[in-house]
Amino acid sequence: MAHYDLFVIGGGSGGVACARRSAAYGASVGLAEGSRMGGTCVIRGCVPKKLMHYAGLFGDFVQTARSFGWKAGHPEHDFQALLRARNEEIARLNGIYVGMLEKAGVAIHAGRATLGPHRDGAFTIEVTTAGGPEHHSADRVVVAVGARPVMPDIEGIEHAVTSDFMLEEIYPLPRRFTVVGAGYIGLEIAGIMNGLGADTTLLLRGEEPLRGFDDDLRREITAGLERHGLTIRPKTVVRRIAKNADGAIVLDTDRGPVEADLLLYATGRKPIPQTENIGLEALGVEKTADGSICVDAAYRTNVEGLYAVGDGSDHAGFGLDAGQHDLTPVAIAEGRVIAETLYNDNPHGVRYDTIPTAVFATPQAGSVGLSEAYARALDYDIAVYTTSFRPMLHSLEKGDQRTMMKLIVDKATDRVIGCHMVGDDASEIIQGLAVAMTAGATKAQFDATVGVHPSTAEEFVTMYQPVQR
Ligand code: NDP
Repeated sequence: MAHYDLFVIGGGSGGVACARRSAAYGASVGLAEGSRMGGTCVIRGCVPKKLMHYAGLFGDFVQTARSFGWKAGHPEHDFQALLRARNEEIARLNGIYVGMLEKAGVAIHAGRATLGPHRDGAFTIEVTTAGGPEHHSADRVVVAVGARPVMPDIEGIEHAVTSDFMLEEIYPLPRRFTVVGAGYIGLEIAGIMNGLGADTTLLLRGEEPLRGFDDDLRREITAGLERHGLTIRPKTVVRRIAKNADGAIVLDTDRGPVEADLLLYATGRKPIPQTENIGLEALGVEKTADGSICVDAAYRTNVEGLYAVGDGSDHAGFGLDAGQHDLTPVAIAEGRVIAETLYNDNPHGVRYDTIPTAVFATPQAGSVGLSEAYARALDYDIAVYTTSFRPMLHSLEKGDQRTMMKLIVDKATDRVIGCHMVGDDASEIIQGLAVAMTAGATKAQFDATVGVHPSTAEEFVTMYQPVQR
């Protein structure tokens, strides 16, 4: 039994960041993780996804290379080789996470943690490890348990897989691949499978993917995905799912049947069951209907000394759309704020209004700040600038690849309040724009900035004529 200043439940991005930073300031820290260290991002999220996204892009690169004179035959892809290399890299990162925690002096407890009753003013924690239960106590606890994919309860849903399967287990590459759900995960994995050669269909119940994103971005990414050969079926509702004798999965939709060899449901993520059965109820911790732990602006729950960060916590109290911010760097920032506040006397908040985000689909999309529709809904008087062009990389192919960029400017202050992009490198370009927006850059300052020529990014500082709506 050990007593800690701080006990962190969950070894994902938020938990690890909080534990390391707290230990760096001299706190004694214990951390429990029941699975591999690194959490969703490292094990079954961002990292394997990005590696597979790169793999999916190479088929296109070969095509583009031909237009520059390279003689390349028909490219063949070895899916098993990709998975082997990917898994080795994940194992390496997993080891790095463990090493970083150990170096920081964090005591790792490999098992699932449950909070017990308060005793002598401290939290009690039971960790179920392979060697049996361990009992510890701590002055403060941070819950950083993340979220899990959710699927609707329809007939035959057991024939579908989630992103956990796609990013940890999938083999072999399916011939026909269908995705239900058109958020980040649906678009990204559809793009990967399509790029690797699977005949890919995306079913969405709405008109366009990426609800909540800027409408021009949504339109442009839809067109881009279709250009890459993805079949998109909007306004399609799946009624039931069955499996044929030959193993094919058949989706019965209101727009006719769809057959697939592998079916992904990418219909969102929720903190349930992560936040259940870990002792929160007995302590009286307030949660939302979807299982998120309610926190205030300092990530405190309603129980003194108990904090929560990341996807398993609810930011609704900030007056922002929490769903948009279930992102790895946000969990990391939140975890560090707790450490800074408690152990470095440096309380500060996270800037939620300029969080950049990228969708690693083909093409990529990047976004920071307000969409045009949301800016109007908030009663901003705005000027909108857009540009769309064939990027130089694709000019010799004479194909129909496009890049779209858009700026939303608050006329009253001239500040740029939204930047959106669809096209190659959108994920890289949007980061710099987020810095500019965090600094409060105005359109005049964008205009006064000299571009990098020739580049795609320079278009963000050369848009001078607002569009007339
Ligand atoms: P999202 O909430 O982004 O998207 C869910 C999609 O599923 C939406 O298109 C939604 O449609 C649809 N949907 C929901 N329920 C049903 C249903 N019953 N039948 C059919 N369609 C349904 O969830 P994701 O799973 O894509 O991602 C979860 C979170 O993970 C994201 O919010 C993001 O925070 C994070 N993430 C971030 C990434 C990144 O930064 N690149 C990558 C991956 C995940 P509708 O719009 O109509 O509701």
